[in-house]
Amino acid sequence: MTTLVRCGSLFTGNEDVERKNQVLVIDSGRLTYVGPANEVPKSAPKVDSVLDYSEFFVMPGLQDVHTHLAYGNAKTEEDIDLYQPMEFRSIRGLFFAQKCLAAGYTSICSPGDAGQISLSVRNAIDYGLFDGPRVTAAGRYLTSRQGLTDWYPTWIGVPDTSIGRLVTSRDEAIEEIRVQVKNGVDCIKIALDGVQRRPDGEFIAAFNQEETTAMVTEAHRMGRKVVVHARGREATLYAARAGVDLIFHAYYLDQECIDAILESSSAIGPTLTFPRNIVDFTRPTEPAYLKGRIADVQREYETACANLRRAHQSGIPFMTGTDSGFAVTPYGEWHAREIEIFVKDLGFTPAAALRAATAVTAGFMAKGSSFGVLEVGRAADFIAVAGSPLKDVAILQDKSRIRHVHLAGKRVAVPERGYDPRQVTDQAWTNWNDLYTQERVVELGIRPARLSATLQDS
Ligand SMILES: [Zn+2]
Repeated sequence: MTTLVRCGSLFTGNEDVERKNQVLVIDSGRLTYVGPANEVPKSAPKVDSVLDYSEFFVMPGLQDVHTHLAYGNAKTEEDIDLYQPMEFRSIRGLFFAQKCLAAGYTSICSPGDAGQISLSVRNAIDYGLFDGPRVTAAGRYLTSRQGLTDWYPTWIGVPDTSIGRLVTSRDEAIEEIRVQVKNGVDCIKIALDGVQRRPDGEFIAAFNQEETTAMVTEAHRMGRKVVVHARGREATLYAARAGVDLIFHAYYLDQECIDAILESSSAIGPTLTFPRNIVDFTRPTEPAYLKGRIADVQREYETACANLRRAHQSGIPFMTGTDSGFAVTPYGEWHAREIEIFVKDLGFTPAAALRAATAVTAGFMAKGSSFGVLEVGRAADFIAVAGSPLKDVAILQDKSRIRHVHLAGKRVAVPERGYDPRQVTDQAWTNWNDLYTQERVVELGIRPARLSATLQDS
């Protein structure tokens, strides 16, 4: 079955330009020709069908390296870790993976989830049971007492249904890596820093250098890549020295970190959409705002952009991801905002940002050398866009412009399906955003009707 696709403009992911009068020829899901319409080799097999995308901009399917399939658009950590059974979270993850695909994201990495949810979603799609994006799956984050995902007090610990796996020694960490590899993960996720800071404000790395190097060495020995959560300078430096493949955030990196990352050939996935959305969307009545976090996030965002611009200029590869799966980053909604942020806040050219979101990010994904770029031999994963993202990358966030999504040549269509988010997530027992003392009630101008009625009765 050979299909020929006429492209209005073609962006292959290998170069900075869009070309006119190009065609793709696809055979058994793979590209057998990419180039000018009038140069299709005479020896090419007979074409069975023609797709006319001559009104559209054709480009590789987009890649999000940071989408947590099991979080379910959570509002709280408790919703992520506790309130839904793992079986339900898997089915929900599959539903939401399809939302990502519909948004033009043909490949995502789910870097850290409870149980074996991400790899089960990956397998259900790989085995052909459901349509969905290609999934690169991690298991639970390896965490220490100082790491992200060890949220709860020591008397509760890290529950088995949590996204984290608390390891309290180097041996336990090595054992957990071997268990996860046996279960079939594509990559290992380490919570390399958390929320603990020194008195001067610096984030404390959750593992020391020797532990970090031991974990990374073992994962690499077993043929798995390693991705870390590292906002702080120290964790970023340890990760780079240990040869970690991908560092998320790296907001406080300095020149020493940049040198170490260049030396180790690691990539950075800044995931700036998440803090940007927190700042832009959180309303004054919400707990994050009331706790004063928004001003902190805004400050961190500005520091991060200044530092990351230097990292980009120094030649470190950047990958696009969004931390989708939270209430501020729902699946299928904001993935392409990261591309716009790369251009506006990190100084990428539109073409470089589009290459980051395709070819470069595919470089981290499992079997990533077989897609991510439109060239002969790779899978025909591509999207047809109304308008040119090279002129305005923001149009990729407009779902009405993502006209067609193809995965291994096949056009996929995800049905629109309404649902009640309160049933799907939102189980945590948070009931109020305020503390209703008598003084506060007066301040808010609330008339306590029931109380005054009672007083009148007596
Ligand atoms: Zn994350």
